[in-house]
Amino acid sequence: MVDLSTDWLVNGVLDRLERILPAQRPIALHEPALEANAWATVKDCLASGWVSSVGTYVDRFERELAESTGIAHAIATVNGTAALHTSLLLAGVAAGDEVLLPALTFVGSANPVATIGAVPHFVDCAEDTLGIDPQALATHLEKIAEQRDDACFNRRSGRRIRALMVVHVLGHLADMAALSKIAENYGLHVIEDAAEALGSRRDGRHAGAWGVLSALSFNGNKIITTGGGGALLTADADLAQRARALTTTAKRPHPWAFEHDQVAFNYRMPNLNAALGVAQLEHLDALLAAKRHLATVYRDTFEDLEGVEVFREPATCQGNQWLNLLLLPDAVQRDALLGAAHARGLLLRPFWTPLHHLPMYTGTPRAELRTTEHLFARGVCLPSSAALAATIRAAA
Ligand SMILES: *Cc1c(COP(=O)(O)O)cnc(C)c1O
Repeated sequence: MVDLSTDWLVNGVLDRLERILPAQRPIALHEPALEANAWATVKDCLASGWVSSVGTYVDRFERELAESTGIAHAIATVNGTAALHTSLLLAGVAAGDEVLLPALTFVGSANPVATIGAVPHFVDCAEDTLGIDPQALATHLEKIAEQRDDACFNRRSGRRIRALMVVHVLGHLADMAALSKIAENYGLHVIEDAAEALGSRRDGRHAGAWGVLSALSFNGNKIITTGGGGALLTADADLAQRARALTTTAKRPHPWAFEHDQVAFNYRMPNLNAALGVAQLEHLDALLAAKRHLATVYRDTFEDLEGVEVFREPATCQGNQWLNLLLLPDAVQRDALLGAAHARGLLLRPFWTPLHHLPMYTGTPRAELRTTEHLFARGVCLPSSAALAATIRAAA
């Protein structure tokens, strides 16, 4: 590791940020891009009177999501957490099971596992994708997994390992080919938490297209927003039908009668939110182009600063560049930069605190998490709103 003075490095980063970012302060980490069509579409929805859990915008948003991702079925939900919760249940995850997932992710990945009564089992991530490291996962499973009657068990806890939840961290595609293969070897269902990854592709294939079920989020900080919202994606028509039932109180179609045939959730996205989603989707290509530009400028800007690097995806990936990640030598520089940047109104953020450090997850099973700790110590997310792409100055 290079031995650099923290002040020198922090000033080097801040000088470069001040040089390229617009003068307004504060600059948030990520703001929604609300264009004129959002006002028109939401107004049209209001005028229709259909603002709640039924309406044409929900159907249209779902159809357009399926088209945009190339995944046959999309079911819009109240948020990404609800889509993940439903996905886990449909994949057969039950109380007492374990689900493998990365420790370096938003807490919303693990909470739906725990609310089912299942146990998150944290695995390490890879430096090149930020997602689960296939090599480390394989090594860990060799150590702790045991096959009994075609089912996979954790030899140490005695619990069944039911599924592998892959997260596409900051919109970067995990190595799905390798991870799917490992899951197949152990008979695990793959669920993709693609909450951050709308528009991300690897070898041309969209995030969510490998797993049996996957989830998107349209929270206000994601690449497109519906205010709050999410969607469950699946290529399987039967699972799609069951997802639809489970998210809509399992109401059977009937012109007037209230017939419900199972215990189910009210997870349906309201039409008002879907109207905003339809408007936002119209701009997805433009947003992706803006994000790509921003990522290029950041990369060029920090190229000559010794000791830091901007994370760069593998050449086979076309991620949506949701958040730009700057990697520093260690946590001392990270914390100094965060403090100095906030004092100047630049609202940079660290990675999420790795989930095994949170009080409710400290006792959970886990693999060695060396890369997780290393990335957490070094990573700082840079302001990444799409609107910045229009005003950012190319590095001189
Ligand atoms: C945003 C997010 C979620 C949860 O989505 P909500 O819509 O906020 O419920 C889950 N996982 C990851 C990785 C996320 O970034």
